[in-house]
Amino acid sequence: MNGWRAMRPGGAPAMAARRAAGSGGAGCVAPRVAPPRPGDALLVVDVQRDFLPGGSLAVPGGNAIIKPVKACIDRFCARGLPVFASRDWHPPNHVSFKAQGGPWPPHCVAGTPGAEFAAALGLPGVAMIVPKGCKPGRDAYSAFDGTELHRQLRALGVNRLFVVGLATDYCVLASVLDARSLGYAVVLLRDAVAAVDVMPGDGELALARMAEAGAATVDSASLQPAPTPAVSAVPRRAPARAP
Ligand SMILES: [Zn+2]
Repeated sequence: MNGWRAMRPGGAPAMAARRAAGSGGAGCVAPRVAPPRPGDALLVVDVQRDFLPGGSLAVPGGNAIIKPVKACIDRFCARGLPVFASRDWHPPNHVSFKAQGGPWPPHCVAGTPGAEFAAALGLPGVAMIVPKGCKPGRDAYSAFDGTELHRQLRALGVNRLFVVGLATDYCVLASVLDARSLGYAVVLLRDAVAAVDVMPGDGELALARMAEAGAATVDSASLQPAPTPAVSAVPRRAPARAP
């Protein structure tokens, strides 16, 4: 029943996260993050029916993120800021499926109900869809892997990415690490992600790994406008430092 158990790929992200956690550099102080502004985009990672309770690769507790993810979407839309939504979009003979020798049960097959976004998200029509894992012989955890996402973000002048979705210790982790490698400031909304936790603590370790890579991790309440604009003296540059 638990497809994620078979899915755990040798623990590479988790092992890296354990090293990060052991180095003591993560998650001690909640950083202050400027609310969404021009130059920002929201990335909703794989909030698809097969990854939610009842789906073929369900993330435990996945339903709990729907409300904060929706709040993030609404916030970005209200400000006219771009929203991207990645999705696994596999052919029926995808390499990751057991029938092809892969580790996973079939999931998110293109065009099937399991591949649909959670209806409760109310994903707006203006959201830009990022399909991944579309070719039979290749899989992709990261929303940047084999997709147009980086090009699209650059075309829109995006330099800071807010990230939500599923799952913390797999596709969210891979997407955030790629975003940091590509030079984006990243803000991870802690209550709008959920972990598989095949090994207890994998999610926390993934959070530590992302923090070590320079991602800020905050609650989705941080997206609300600041009560008083007392930050006008902050310089506009310093992209490597504080998202
Ligand atoms: Zn997949």
